[in-house]
Amino acid sequence: MSAAATSPDPVPPIPSVSPESPSIAASVLLLPAGVYRQIVAACLDGYPLEACGLLIGEEGASGEAQVRASHPATNAAASARVYTVEPRDMLRADREAEEIGAVLLGVWHSHTHTDAFPSPTDVAQAPDPGWHYVIVSLRDSEPVLRSYRIRGGRSEEEAVVLQ
Ligand SMILES: [Zn+2]
Repeated sequence: MSAAATSPDPVPPIPSVSPESPSIAASVLLLPAGVYRQIVAACLDGYPLEACGLLIGEEGASGEAQVRASHPATNAAASARVYTVEPRDMLRADREAEEIGAVLLGVWHSHTHTDAFPSPTDVAQAPDPGWHYVIVSLRDSEPVLRSYRIRGGRSEEEAVVLQ
């Protein structure tokens, strides 16, 4: 008799996790308090429109991203509901990052009347799966800042540690 295993039903393949994408839930955004205050102030300044800007810093090996600076940007959409980072601001932020040996880590924007949760548009238009997406809600009297990873049409919140 042959030793071949009998398999009456094919076993469906186990979904594999891509080794180069660590669990997005495990990622952490390290945010200096000074940068946090700059971002919140820019969001309040931009009201009633959505404000936006870029995050500059370093991506750590263990899923921890260290923010070093915020580069405010013009919301080219000039809208209270959506944002589009002005392309020239993107280039300036990229140059600023390069000058300090850092990279663009992500983007922040405000929600003027809704929760600090990515809207369907935010998820659909997230430009970079490697980025961190910070949202500041101005809905309540105290601004609320949260950060997300957005990949493959799905968002997951990550921890934000103020430094
Ligand atoms: Zn949004």
